[in-house]
Parts: sequence; structure tokens; C-alpha cells
Amino acid sequence: DAEVEKHEFKAETKKLLHIVAHSLYSQREVFVRELISNSSDALEKLRHLQATSQDVSSDAQLEISISVDKDAKTITFYDSGIGMTAEELKDNLGTIARSGSKAYIEKMQDGAETKDMANTIVGQFGVGFYSAFMVGDKITVYTRSATPGSTGYCWESDGLGSYTLAKAEDVPVGTKIVINVKDDAKEFLEKEKLDEIIKKYSNFVGFPISVNGEKVNTVDALWTKDKNSITDEEHDDFYQFVSNAWDKPMYNLVYKADGPISIRSILYAPTRNPEAVGFERVKPGVSLYSRKVLIMPNAPGLLPEWLRFIKGVVDSEDLPLNLSRELLQSGPVILRLKSIITSRIIKWLQEEANRDATKYDEFYKTFGSFIKEGTCQDAVNQKEISKLLRFETSSKEAGQLISLDEYVERMPSDQEHIYYFCTPNRQLGSESPYYEPFKQHGAEVLFLHHGLDEFVMGRLHEFKGKRLMSVDSKEANAVLEKWNKAAQAESAEGTNASLTAEQSSELTAWLLTNMGSNVKEVKVAERYMTYPAIVTDFESPSVRRMMKMMAGDSE
Ligand code: ADP
Ligand code: MG
Repeated sequence: DAEVEKHEFKAETKKLLHIVAHSLYSQREVFVRELISNSSDALEKLRHLQATSQDVSSDAQLEISISVDKDAKTITFYDSGIGMTAEELKDNLGTIARSGSKAYIEKMQDGAETKDMANTIVGQFGVGFYSAFMVGDKITVYTRSATPGSTGYCWESDGLGSYTLAKAEDVPVGTKIVINVKDDAKEFLEKEKLDEIIKKYSNFVGFPISVNGEKVNTVDALWTKDKNSITDEEHDDFYQFVSNAWDKPMYNLVYKADGPISIRSILYAPTRNPEAVGFERVKPGVSLYSRKVLIMPNAPGLLPEWLRFIKGVVDSEDLPLNLSRELLQSGPVILRLKSIITSRIIKWLQEEANRDATKYDEFYKTFGSFIKEGTCQDAVNQKEISKLLRFETSSKEAGQLISLDEYVERMPSDQEHIYYFCTPNRQLGSESPYYEPFKQHGAEVLFLHHGLDEFVMGRLHEFKGKRLMSVDSKEANAVLEKWNKAAQAESAEGTNASLTAEQSSELTAWLLTNMGSNVKEVKVAERYMTYPAIVTDFESPSVRRMMKMMAGDSE
């Protein structure tokens, strides 16, 4: 003859329950995630109490077991976690725990709930425990607190206006939630369906989850482990799991931080670049977790676009479990997370480059286009990203790469610029009259053969205070003239002074007349050359290319 107390839900809870029961269909599967997340929290709390050797009356194995019964039309979630006292039951399940949802619902006009608003609540604030009413028309909760001497309770509600609370016999420590499944939600009575949802949202929850006795979550929460305890094989498996790919990771980074934001993460650079072989644009590949519960798979906005080739997991307990797309793009925690992780990734790649230059060159040959994209688009990090760029150079064999750092280190003290030359291939570059005077002078010139390189140089403009200068630019003439004057001062008779001043001006006039509008001006070059004449650009190479494009010429 246990006494049954009847309680009314608070007004805003009633509103929320109404929304939950009537407006949300597309997102119903998230109830699994919400209940598992609560169970995981309860288990974490108990584990913490046990770990801090406080008085708890439970030594059961920490686990989440789910069972489905098609005949009874029930789904049961049981966890051996911390459980709830009667007061906690009233406080936690009788009112809306989440302050965000509460405020949002309080502001809503009565009867004004639309599907959009409902989606906002689920996406932005979360409905937590109440999400069970999306699929159930009656929810029964059996729970007993882990506090010694506690009593078991039974909480029950049809999600309409009230709930009942009564003492219950033979309740183990923990919480059992029985959902009476609605007729239109029978799909969730399929074990396969539940397995799929759990794999999708809760695969890395740090406690075993079973459905009808079979364990579902197979993969460890690798990112919470100690970096040195993770084997290469585990990395390979985990990489393949998170990326859905079959190659192996080229690099891995296990990165943890406790302040200013808590971060547990594992990141991978793949071996293959699907974009390089003409597949479609790679989608973001890093998933966001909060305390091992998936918040957003392959989260857009977590990393800048140019890092879309990076795969992995970022877990931060500072993130709310329910994160809308909008918050994901612009929420303050996300923006800080993005900035911290982006810097860390750049540093990581720099470290890998220093550790093994040959391996990094391989990486660069595969993923260099992303680094170039980053140099052009990520203004904040441009300086650091530019250290990751690699180029061919006149001082090395074709195919060998150097960094801008290496170039600058080798620069003679009186050299003011970094010289580069964009040509379709190495041979054209090294045989070109533009390159010749630099070769004569013994100056190192970067040879750029990639379509994006010219653009990158234009955007980068300088590196470590040294201007980037194309050897076929107008500014390069000034450098050549300086060299030439110095050379002439050394030898009494200039090697190229074979025309008199009069002959020179006659030739100049003749060229101007005969070349017509094809040239802007003709100058006598004060430099040694094996070529009788060369064309230097008036506009920058990229402007020239643009003009050609606009004129309908394709290269
Ligand atoms: P939130 O998880 O954001 O607090 P929920 O609506 O999901 O919101 O849960 C409300 C509260 O109910 C939780 O904070 C917790 O105190 C309690 N609770 C829910 N499920 C459990 C559980 N399985 N074991 C113990 N406490 C629970
Ligand atoms: Mg919750």
C-alpha cells in the first residue's frame, strides 16, 4: 500500500511536453542520445564518487543496458549510475533542467509553437529527458540513489499534465526508464534501429552499452587515453572509423588542454587526397563531442575550410550537448575552440615537417593545395601557414622542395627580395631569358609550377619582411640594373655596349613603329644577356592572366 503522490508539471514543462509530443518527427531518434547521455552522466558521477572514496552503496559494474520488447511495446534504458532521491526526481524530472530551453519556452506565446520553434529548442537547448515523450505515451522511471540507506522510487507520467511518485520495492541502485512506445514510433522497437542510432551518436560513450544483451559500442574513447598508450594499430582503426576511409593516417596528433577550454582530441592527416583525383570537394571531417557524447558529426565551422582534409574527434566538456548549426558557426566557445585547434594543427604540421622533411614533402605533394588555399584565405594564420609552403628552387634538382624559411636563411645579406618564377614546367623556367640574369648573378630563384602558386605569392606578398618578387616583373628590372651597374663599374668596358647611343635610339624608334600597339615602351636594357631582346611585363603576371582570360584566350 505504497502511497502515490500526484504532482502537476510546471507551466513551461507542460508547454515543452506539448511541443515534444506534437511537433518533432524528423528528430525523434535523438531521444536515444539524450537518455544515454543522462545515463553516462549518472555513471560518471558515481565513478567520481567511488574514485574520491566517498560513501556509496554500489559496487555494480558501470554500464548502460537497453532492452526492447516488441510484444510489450517497450524500450527500457537501465544504468547502474548514481540514481535519484525523491527530491531529485521532483527537481530534475518535474521541471525543465535546461535554463536555455526554459527561457525560450517562457517567452513563447501560448499555442504559438511551430515546428521551427520546436526544432530550435531541440537543436539549441535540448529537451533532454523529455525527448522520451517523442516516442513514448507513458514513461516509467525506477530509480534509487547511490547514497547509503536510500529508498527506491517510481515516477510515472503520460507527458500530459502531471506525474505520479511512489516508493518502490527491489529497485537496484541506478535508474531504469521504461518507455511505452507509441504506435507511430514502432520502428524504435527494432534492435537494429537502436544499434544504428547508438553507433551514430553514442559509439564512444565510455561505458559499455548493450541492446538486448549485446554490446553495441565497440570503439574505445581513444582521445581520452594517454597519448603514449595508443598503438599505431589503434590509430589506424580509429582513423578509418572516423574518416570512413581505407587508407592509413599520414600523421596523428593527440592533443589535450585543460585551459582556457577543455580539449581532448585526436586528429589525423590522411594519406590520400580525394580532391586530387577529381572527386568532389572534401567535406569537413572532425566530429565534435562533449564528454564522449556526440554533438555534431563532421562539424562544419569547427575548423576553417582549408583544413577540411583533417579527420578526427574534438571533445570539449565546455560545449553544450545540444548545439545548433547557428551556434556552431558563431558561438563564442566554438570560435575559441576553432582558433585554438587551428593554431595547434598548423604547429603540428610544422613539427612534422621539422621531424622528417622527406615525409613532409610527400604530404605536401598530396595536400599542398590545401596549404596554399589556407595561405590565401586564412588571414589570421597566414604567417604561420606560409611556413608550411614548399617550392622547387634553382639551387636544387627538379622535384626537390624547400621552404621559404630555408630560402631566407640562405639569402646573401644584401638581397632584399625573395625571387620566384612561375612557369608551366622546370625546363621552361630554367631556359628562360627572364631567369638568365639571376642565374648569371648566382641568385636563388623559386620555380613555381602549380596553378595556385602565383596567386599564393600575390596574396602572401612577403615572408619574414622580405618582399616576394617575380623575376619577370617590372620591379625585377631595378634589381637587374643595380647588378649591371656594379658589373660595369668592375670591368672598364661593358660587355654589352656594342651599339652606340645613336644606333640604340634608332633601333628603339624602329621597334616602336613596327611593333605598334603590341608594346607599351621599348628600352635599352643595361644588362648582359645572350638574348637580343626580351619582353617584360607591364602589369603583374596575374593581371596579365586575367586580361587574357577576359579576352577569351585560354592557356
Ligand atoms: P540535463 O541532462 O541537461 O541536465 P535532462 O532533461 O536530460 O537535462 O535531465 C535532467 C536531470 O535529470 C539531469 O540533470 C539529472 O540530474 C537527472 N537525470 C536524468 N536522467 C538520469 C539518470 N539516468 N540518472 C540520474 N539522474 C538522471
Ligand atoms: Mg541530459
